[in-house]
Amino acid sequence: MPTPYAYFQGNIVPLSEAKIGVMTHAFNYGTAVFEGIRGNWNEDDQTTYLFRMREHFERLVQSSKILTFQVHQTVDRLCEIAVELVEKSGFTEDIYLRPMVYLSTEQLGVRLHNLESETLIFLTPFPAYLPETARCHTSTWRRVDDTGIPPRAKVTGIYVNSALAKTEANLNGFDEAIMLNANGHVSEGSGENIFMVRKGKLISPTPADNVLEGITAASVVELAKNELGIELVEREIDRSELYIADEIFMTGTAAHLTPIVEVDRRTVGTGKPGPITSQLSHLFYDCIRGRSEKYSQWCTPARARVAR
Ligand code: PMP
Repeated sequence: MPTPYAYFQGNIVPLSEAKIGVMTHAFNYGTAVFEGIRGNWNEDDQTTYLFRMREHFERLVQSSKILTFQVHQTVDRLCEIAVELVEKSGFTEDIYLRPMVYLSTEQLGVRLHNLESETLIFLTPFPAYLPETARCHTSTWRRVDDTGIPPRAKVTGIYVNSALAKTEANLNGFDEAIMLNANGHVSEGSGENIFMVRKGKLISPTPADNVLEGITAASVVELAKNELGIELVEREIDRSELYIADEIFMTGTAAHLTPIVEVDRRTVGTGKPGPITSQLSHLFYDCIRGRSEKYSQWCTPARARVAR
């Protein structure tokens, strides 16, 4: 039977043994940064492929730098630990790894300095996060601003902003929220970057529009350039521009590449994934399960010990 393991306080332990105290700083104040890494199961070769693991750990280090947290492990070591966890846990389905650097001191007082940090990693089975095609609405919640909590750092506390938007969308009958930034321009989904296609051009908000600089997004942009000869245009996008876009899709570690077929009750294009979205989607899904030789450097194989 697969059993989830975690890296906790410097050791690999069963997930059930990884517990923090109620006074932990991160639990009280949201003072942690985290990552999500996909382990995509490939049935044919009985292997889990960790997608762009190194880039995720590098972003964890960047998020830590923004919050002045010390990371006690090198990126190389974190990669080794992640592979060991996957192999030891033995899942034969899609999984999700959650690395986190958190303020671990059990002490009250709002601040970032003079507190200890710890690194943990856990994993869990994780099937598709959004439906095959998604219906969105524009959130009444604005995306947090770099002048408040910087969204390019993946801070746990920021996800209250995302959760407000996601819940509002779901309770209103939509699959996902599109958040505008303080200037009223399109920013991102609650846990995804957003792209639109207009007249054959691939367009996304700029890194200064209060988005997380997505690793899935960067991968899809590379595929568009190398395989379809389409260069990305980064610029501000208005809400009403989404209503007349030919195609829209979202990208994210949890959501992969998800076509958006409706925004605020306006059908996007024909109401079906458009040609550029479909081509990118095919290319992307091959890459993430280790089926593309050209992009094999994006995938780290891990073989579940119990599956062999
Ligand atoms: N924006 C937000 C707010 C997210 O939480 C995520 C998921 N990490 C993304 C974008 C997509 O980033 P990535 O492709 O690196 O997972």
